[in-house]
Amino acid sequence: MGRSSFLQAFVMAKKKVRRKAAARSRPKSRITAVRERAKPKAPTKRYRIIATEEAWAIPEQLAAMKEVADAAADYDPDLYLVGMQNTDPLRRRLLDSEGERLGIMDQGGVSMHLLAMTSTGVQTFETEKAVAIAELGNDRLAEVIRRHPTRYAGLATVAPQDPARAVKEMDRAINKLKLNGVMINSHTNGEYLDQKKYWPILEAAAALRVPVYIHPRAPSPAMAKPYREYHLEHAIWGYQAETGLHGLKLIVSGVFDAYPDLKIVLGHMGEGLPYWFYRMDWMATHFDMRRPKVKLKPSEYFKRNFYITTSGVNWHPALRFCIEVLGEDRIMFAVDYPYQETMEAVQWLIDAPIPEATKRKIFHENAERVFRIPGGA
Ligand code: MN
Repeated sequence: MGRSSFLQAFVMAKKKVRRKAAARSRPKSRITAVRERAKPKAPTKRYRIIATEEAWAIPEQLAAMKEVADAAADYDPDLYLVGMQNTDPLRRRLLDSEGERLGIMDQGGVSMHLLAMTSTGVQTFETEKAVAIAELGNDRLAEVIRRHPTRYAGLATVAPQDPARAVKEMDRAINKLKLNGVMINSHTNGEYLDQKKYWPILEAAAALRVPVYIHPRAPSPAMAKPYREYHLEHAIWGYQAETGLHGLKLIVSGVFDAYPDLKIVLGHMGEGLPYWFYRMDWMATHFDMRRPKVKLKPSEYFKRNFYITTSGVNWHPALRFCIEVLGEDRIMFAVDYPYQETMEAVQWLIDAPIPEATKRKIFHENAERVFRIPGGA
């Protein structure tokens, strides 16, 4: 063997050893019985990944939602969804926190789910039942988190139907159960949180220093009719129209002048509002349409009081746009499990054409700060 070919063989052998060592150090992916549909490259575990809009349910909630749906005389888009929520695989995945969910999280490299009771929470129930199921759900959620403190955090459920008891439950859920915020599924019986009777809920959130995540549901009955012909009342358009409206109603109501520290989280890249900043600000400053007098422009409140998540919008142009107009400190990663796909969402953000430091903020650092989740590996 000549000197040069000997060297070549030596170098190649060394490379082979290195490749083998690298293969050994790669974490073995746990293959679960049920795969999600997306088939991207296996995500590498370079980031702590906290997914912040992840749905969960207790059997009592699903049963009560089904009861309401079965008793309803007319088509109701939220109640229509109840049929799917009560059918596998959605039902099985919503109720699970011990098996399949952890398997899919591991497969996608997701460290933690921020769990919240699936839409519409307890907001379609009569008041007593709503209060009872919210409390039961919060207790169970706290147990799940106690069992898996590194895999789960959670948002409290409250019944806006009774604002005073919602405030009491928020205090219990945050101070005693150590939950990380509260979720409200947009309108309650056609009413929005900008109404004065709901302000104690917002005041409590500000005082407790926890965010209110406003999660979508279908448009309230008074604006639902034009959506019906093509069933646009669902997530294709109606959810975002409903929830974006809710966010804007809060902004123009003056609630953020009353509670400047109030934090609101919107999913789905801000439910369309960031895209509309220019026109909202221009109209708010050029036409007096008899709206309440507030101190700041709409976009200024949004940039001060709102955070957004990427849930369900795995699209790089929208992400880059939101980073440009909101800043990288206000955007958090979310999957929207089990309604959308874990692997696709993770791979999408890994592949995003943004700096590594920004990715870390969106994957976990911002969520750790906003939801007061302890930092971890
Ligand atoms: Mn969701």
